[in-house]
Amino acid sequence: MSVIINEICLENGIIQPVITQLSETKHVQWDVLRLDLIHPIISGNKFFKLRLYVEEALRSKQKGILTLGGAYSNHILATAYAGKKAGLSTVGIIRGEEPVHWSQTLIDARDYGMQLIFTEREKYSEIKGQAQNPFLADFPGFIFVPEGGFSQMGMMGAAGIHDRIPGDQYDWIICACGTGTMMAGLVQGASGEQQVLGIPVLKNYQGMESDIRSLLGPEKQERAFVINHDYHFGRYAKLNHVLTGFMNDFFHETSIPTDFVYTGKLMFAIRDLLLKDFFIPGSRILAIHSGGLQGNRSLKKGILDF
Ligand SMILES: *Cc1c(COP(=O)(O)O)cnc(C)c1O
Repeated sequence: MSVIINEICLENGIIQPVITQLSETKHVQWDVLRLDLIHPIISGNKFFKLRLYVEEALRSKQKGILTLGGAYSNHILATAYAGKKAGLSTVGIIRGEEPVHWSQTLIDARDYGMQLIFTEREKYSEIKGQAQNPFLADFPGFIFVPEGGFSQMGMMGAAGIHDRIPGDQYDWIICACGTGTMMAGLVQGASGEQQVLGIPVLKNYQGMESDIRSLLGPEKQERAFVINHDYHFGRYAKLNHVLTGFMNDFFHETSIPTDFVYTGKLMFAIRDLLLKDFFIPGSRILAIHSGGLQGNRSLKKGILDF
């Protein structure tokens, strides 16, 4: 894989065993792919989903990348930073009016050179699904990356996560899902017997299965995968003391930090599914730590022990 952003260190994305009393009692091997460690800012899956876009923009000598996302979006921050490092301009269409107090994510994205355009929610939801984003007209020479990188290109980039996973060593590959782009890539690249399980963090995202399927290649259209909608904790980015208490316990037990939007809910789900004997004894499961730790900066100090 060519690495266009030379700070990315894929070798740091190690597989770490999670040995808890529970996984031992249930005779399940629980490992975590630490994609959070490949880079502090373009962390986890965001590098994989963006890399083909960055390569394409450089190859076809485009000026920059235009994309969209929310005020706390890991995708916005990663795009801003990747653009800066690759020598591309970036524009971020941000959901909602300009806030009085900018999130640290927005401040950083601006500091990395991204031009931010605040867009009222109604207009944002109207344009976000359009293949030809209307803002592109103002930015000739920019390529468009859909929200969260949801596209075939984003999916193909995410399929590259399999390069970090030894093919025959896992029965289950489990990830958190926002748009489902990463999961689609994991399904696309999974080996024959491997099952892929996704944990959506959005409430009632019932269209997710067909959205994921729409990204898969023709040869993978019939491929089975599993989605469990029980672990969104009320809605996107909602948290409570059960979740943060779990994240602290998980950190003390494994030394793995998680974020409250995605990977905290993912690990919580895996523990709960272990408790419910969802995985048969002898199963080997790999959780994808997709990064996103920067998002914890929006929490009050003291809630998390890390
Ligand atoms: C963006 C993100 C996801 C969701 O990825 P999708 O491809 O949109 O499903 C999961 N985990 C983390 C940490 C993220 O930042």
